[in-house]
Amino acid sequence: MDLTNLFRGRKVLVFGVANERSIAWGIAQTFHKLGAQLGFTYVGESLERRVRPLAESVGSDLILPCDVTDDAQIKAVFDEVREKWGGLDVLVHAVAFANREDLEGRFVDTTREGYLLALNISAYSLVALTRHAMPLLSQSNGSVVTLSYYGAEKVVPNYNVMGVAKAALEASVRYLAADCGPEGVRVNAISAGPVKTLAASGIKGFRGMLGFAAEKAPLRRNITLDDVAGAAVFLCSELGNGVTGETLYVDSGYSIMGM
Ligand code: NAD
Repeated sequence: MDLTNLFRGRKVLVFGVANERSIAWGIAQTFHKLGAQLGFTYVGESLERRVRPLAESVGSDLILPCDVTDDAQIKAVFDEVREKWGGLDVLVHAVAFANREDLEGRFVDTTREGYLLALNISAYSLVALTRHAMPLLSQSNGSVVTLSYYGAEKVVPNYNVMGVAKAALEASVRYLAADCGPEGVRVNAISAGPVKTLAASGIKGFRGMLGFAAEKAPLRRNITLDDVAGAAVFLCSELGNGVTGETLYVDSGYSIMGM
């Protein structure tokens, strides 16, 4: 198997690049090095100014607006992908949002609006994007990968409603994998350790989480964007052909520790 050409000619659509620190950008750069053709989406004009130059630096010919709460925008993206590329091999979903006030204090104080917003953007979006992508992905035994976090499974201070959203996301991965598998499409999640990004800056005490994870994890360090990208390469290429519905931890081993 020629690993340097693992993604040669593969069409990869990436949701969730905000800037050069984004986990999605780490994945995109690695896929680019392995020969992928990349498309990107962004939300709003200020992020477009960040995303467009990054996308152009990896030769992207598909840079489209998409707020994942808007079904019309999602449809427009996949109409454009079908028209321009005629197919799709990989969908990268690295999208999440919760109100800042819901990422501190007590979970029990989460409002209905805050709860629904976090679940809508961070979990339901995977279902909507996968549904639209399926007709394209099924032509090429394609795959979907999303990003989760340990707070889906255990209580992490201040992660609050996002932990519930990630639990829904991981369960959605399993149900989507069951639906999409018969058509040859795989759906997996990477549960990443903490990484300093724009989204992470919304979590109160995030710096403390980084330090704690590096101190307690078996590998005694925080993970890098390359660590996550390596797992994404595995899951989204033929290397991971037998894997679907899985949540793969890329967290320096933090999640195995009991005490
Ligand atoms: P990031 O801020 O770089 O990326 C989050 C992305 O979500 C942004 O590009 C933002 O534009 C997008 N987004 C938010 N609302 C949206 C909407 N309505 N429509 C479309 N896009 C929207 O931060 P990141 O840390 O790279 O986050 C990527 C994913 O990784 C998220 O799912 C996050 O929960 C997950 N994750 C992050 C960490 C971490 O410590 N940073 C750890 C585990 C998992």
